[in-house]
Amino acid sequence: MRVLVMLGAPGAGKGTQAHILARHLGLPRVATGDLFRAALRDGTPLGVAAKGYMDRGELVPDEITINMLLERLGAADAARGAILDGFPRTRAQAEALDRALDERTAAVEAALLVDVPAEDLLARLSGRWLCEAAGHTFHETAYPPRVAGICDICGSRLIQRDDDRPAVVRARLEKQLGAMEDVVDYYRAAGVLQVVDGRRPIAAVSNDLLDCIEPVPYWRTHL
Ligand SMILES: [Zn+2]
Repeated sequence: MRVLVMLGAPGAGKGTQAHILARHLGLPRVATGDLFRAALRDGTPLGVAAKGYMDRGELVPDEITINMLLERLGAADAARGAILDGFPRTRAQAEALDRALDERTAAVEAALLVDVPAEDLLARLSGRWLCEAAGHTFHETAYPPRVAGICDICGSRLIQRDDDRPAVVRARLEKQLGAMEDVVDYYRAAGVLQVVDGRRPIAAVSNDLLDCIEPVPYWRTHL
């Protein structure tokens, strides 16, 4: 069973790459957010337990999340493995995942970090502007409006949401990067960390990731 962990800060393109790798490797992409939604929708015992915590505004304990994940890894489409997107988020979760996989004589094959420097992330995440009238979105560097502050489409004024302001984005990012760094260190110490430069075009990043994890051509191992 191939268990691959995707790591990357918000805005690094981790989710996009997880989708591409999943398609390329024929493995399901497993995101914990989707697991929660599915468990709640289906009313599974774990889903009910998780809902209890969420309703009380508490964090769902790692044990419940791990068990949901294991349940998901037991599904037919994950028989050959899965790409984990959004988990683990902390060192404790990474340790719990290792213990759980170990019981199934499996292990994390690789932790793939889509690496983008904090300053670039800040530029990507904080340059968003919305038009007042219809919410048309622009980005200072990625797709700027023709006239600064004016919507190309409807001509209304462009505004920035509090969440998109640089100071707010920076504070949030620093917190998230701190937690991620612990997980990165954990996998580095375990010898399974692979780092690719996330500033390159999407297809180049995908190729770099595939180079990390697929030294033997896929067809040769699956004859
Ligand atoms: Zn507009």
